[in-house]
Amino acid sequence: MKKDIHPKYGECVITCACGNTVITRSTKSKINVEICSRCHPLYTGKQKIVDTAGRVEKYRKKYTKKIKEEKEENENK
Ligand SMILES: [Zn+2]
Repeated sequence: MKKDIHPKYGECVITCACGNTVITRSTKSKINVEICSRCHPLYTGKQKIVDTAGRVEKYRKKYTKKIKEEKEENENK
């Protein structure tokens, strides 16, 4: 291996939003994740909407608003 071109490779703690931590090795010392094997619906078997940026909420709002508008439009005809 060449010298000085490789980043430091050491212990890394991955912290999940659910509180679970996984220790591994990486060039980074800390990684934050939103979902891990312990809280992923595939492993937990539970239904969970992964909504990190409020996108689901945004979509729902937009969608219900649109339906409302279309309804009102039809009523005005
Ligand atoms: Zn998790």
